[in-house]
Amino acid sequence: MKEKNITTKLLHAGENTLAKKINTGVSVPKVIPIYMSSVFSFDDVPSLDAVYAGEANGYIYGRNGHPNQEAAAECLALAEGTDDALMFGSGMAAITTCFLAQVSQGDHIVSSPVLYGGVYDFMKNDLRRFGVEVTFVEFDDVEAVEAAIKPNTKLIYTETIVNPTMNIYDLEAISKIAHAHGCKLIVDNTFATPSVCRPMDYGTDIVVYSTTKFLGGHSDIVGGAIVADQATINSLRHAHCIYGGQMGPLECWLLCRSLRTLDLRVERHSKNAQKVAEFLEKHPKIEKVYYPGLQSSKYRKLGERLFVDNRFGGMLSADIAGGEEGASKFIAACETIKFVPSLASYSTTLSYPAKTSHRAYSAEELVAAGISMGTIRFSIGMEDPDDIIAEFEAALAQV
Ligand SMILES: *Cc1c(COP(=O)(O)O)cnc(C)c1O
Repeated sequence: MKEKNITTKLLHAGENTLAKKINTGVSVPKVIPIYMSSVFSFDDVPSLDAVYAGEANGYIYGRNGHPNQEAAAECLALAEGTDDALMFGSGMAAITTCFLAQVSQGDHIVSSPVLYGGVYDFMKNDLRRFGVEVTFVEFDDVEAVEAAIKPNTKLIYTETIVNPTMNIYDLEAISKIAHAHGCKLIVDNTFATPSVCRPMDYGTDIVVYSTTKFLGGHSDIVGGAIVADQATINSLRHAHCIYGGQMGPLECWLLCRSLRTLDLRVERHSKNAQKVAEFLEKHPKIEKVYYPGLQSSKYRKLGERLFVDNRFGGMLSADIAGGEEGASKFIAACETIKFVPSLASYSTTLSYPAKTSHRAYSAEELVAAGISMGTIRFSIGMEDPDDIIAEFEAALAQV
């Protein structure tokens, strides 16, 4: 036979043989490799049938699942104290898939009113097009939540720590109400993470995340997740696959790496935020501090009951004296504390809700959400807390 063409040779060389060699060796990689393979090959038809039937281990196609998604799901489910997780290409992909997989035309949802902007938009405008109605009520008032439930209510939705006023709600009482009316409770635990709160311990059925934030923690990945018990996760697999939101192998790998240090990081974020909040509360140029860990916060007692080790997370907000002018001067005077329209990096950052996350709100809507033109939201990082406080002190002197 004529020698094969160089491209022909290269198209068949290496990878497959090497993968099989690794698979049967007596040593394994200490860290799971990044499986940058969109598809998996089979030796014959019965092998493929066996994987589809769940009778043999194996993967088929990246959108259905892949080794790095499985590793990330295992780590996150472990942190949450439950069975399994599904990983998505963004927090919004996770949350919209979670809703679309569970509601049908004519269904009703009860939600707390102040939500991550994208989720609020989806609930208010997109779900309506499919004939799904949402009632927004203040979750501080547990009776109002119950009163808002109708015979066609399927889901109750809230966030563990609400942006930017950092309200927290009694998840234990709300999950009891949800279950008494045959509804599921879904909680966005992005601001808290399982190192501050595990909503499933209080009866929450499904936890959703933007893993872009503290779970990733390094401002280098966009991703999302749904976490729940095995039966619930299995019921959402179809939507995960056909709505197409799967997280890629590299992001899953980076997320696994980040989750190893989640508890250490969030402990530090929480300790630092507590110190910074206590400093800001006493400062004459600060009108109000929103941090549930403050003894003066009306949410402190509830947090002590629901949260791990009196940790209240890394997120806090503060009203700077002088409204928009004061906020602008403060932001310009910060040196290392960058103005970024996101949160939860390793270092301290700030955001300006009236101009970023809540930019679409009218003046009246801002007031109703408890946001003023002087409100700045801080994501407190892992620096030495005294260095963070010194920078705040210097910036406030410029206000
Ligand atoms: C960022 C965020 C989301 C959306 O996540 P993406 O990864 O940006 O799609 C949802 N909920 C909360 C609380 C968030 O902070």
